[in-house]
Amino acid sequence: MLPTPLRRTKIICTIGPSCWDQKTLYSLADNGMNVARLNFSHGDLSLHQKVIAMIRAYNDSHPLNVAMMLDTKGAEIRSGDVKEPIQISKDEEIIFTSRKKPDETRKVVEVGYDKFAKDVLETGVILLDNGELSFDIVRVDKNGEVTARAREDGKIGSRRHINLPGADLDMPSITEKDWKDIEFGARENLDFLALSFIREEDEVHAVRKLLRKLNSKSQIVSKIETRNAVENIASIIDASDAIMVARGDLGAEVPFERLPLIQDEIVCRCKDAGKPVIIATHMLESMCVHPIPTRAEVMDTSHAVATGADTSMLSGETASGGRPLEALRAMDKIERAMEAHMAKLETVYEIRFKSKEEEEMNVAVSLAEKCNIDAFVVITESGKTARYISKFRPKVPIIALTPNAAVQRSLLLCYGIYPIVVPFESSDDDTMSAGIELSKNIGLLQKDQRAILLKNKAKSPKVITI
Ligand code: PEP
Repeated sequence: MLPTPLRRTKIICTIGPSCWDQKTLYSLADNGMNVARLNFSHGDLSLHQKVIAMIRAYNDSHPLNVAMMLDTKGAEIRSGDVKEPIQISKDEEIIFTSRKKPDETRKVVEVGYDKFAKDVLETGVILLDNGELSFDIVRVDKNGEVTARAREDGKIGSRRHINLPGADLDMPSITEKDWKDIEFGARENLDFLALSFIREEDEVHAVRKLLRKLNSKSQIVSKIETRNAVENIASIIDASDAIMVARGDLGAEVPFERLPLIQDEIVCRCKDAGKPVIIATHMLESMCVHPIPTRAEVMDTSHAVATGADTSMLSGETASGGRPLEALRAMDKIERAMEAHMAKLETVYEIRFKSKEEEEMNVAVSLAEKCNIDAFVVITESGKTARYISKFRPKVPIIALTPNAAVQRSLLLCYGIYPIVVPFESSDDDTMSAGIELSKNIGLLQKDQRAILLKNKAKSPKVITI
């Protein structure tokens, strides 16, 4: 029987109440979670610390590690706490205000943002929970009260997410809480720090400055979810280590029919720049309650694979849904099926070479296709060589041997790379032998498979049979 090919598209699982317990968390890791996302919009620090400790313990006894991503809350607007959800009827007028109104008899939504009445003037509509409820703006009073008319029936519970599409919010993208959380993530050596509501490259540079000061190797993932970020996409990609297409908020910020165009453009730009790109939100949303995904979700996830995204992300599906493991298994299945299909197709390389190294690795990838190769095995100290190969989206996995655990985990967002820690021996040949042995032991390579070996800084690929 032929071995099952390794999945090349990576998967991020968001950690939350549905998988906080060690058993579920570890079965996600055993079933292919590459990166665990800690969402700092929710949960207190002690809960996140427990998850961090559990993942570290898992990594200590598993050569295929799981990386960790801290996702900041960012400059988001939320409604206040309510004892009971506020029932809203279509065409009903209600008040949004940042001031407390204990004696008010009209229906009031308290907003945790004191410039709400000013910023609301820049939009035509108020969206709740990414558009599940929407309101036309009727009047903005001098006292900061915003009267808005409901477009549909619904209810508003505590701390609902509010979007003002198109408005350039008068608050910094990175809040005081975010700076504290970023510092926490850097000091904990978390592998990735995802920055919410980024608008321009300078914000990324400011975080980079702090990371340098703290001597942190954490990588910066910029979440694209504002109109400004879409406009400034080239410079944000340039400044960041990776990009997330955060379709939840982005879908509320731009007309929804533009989402596919924006997603595909970002994927193309990131591939060209050789920076990992993550597709996030609502990928298998229906699996929060249903045992199988909708046909449209299967198509959406396959589309991400077909266009060459590095990573797909599960949010509520694993964090709060009823079937975290089934959601992960479904995503894994969909991606493997699409990858197997794509492997049969003729590849046309449209990516421009930016360096001599890229040109050399492209030759190695073409060789892999011509010679029916099953895997690359690469010695890579900083991870760069493995990344160059990944950029050309080979149809086989790239086993990256690195002596450094932080480099190992930094590669876990990249298409096709299976990074493992192998101490460097006195010669590259010995390191390669040790790496191949470990790869066989953990099921990355099988006897009689053919692999292309690339040694540290060596230019010429060598083909061997395992
Ligand atoms: C999103 O909006 O798509 C997203 C990933 O961000 P969050 O889940 O933090 O709202």
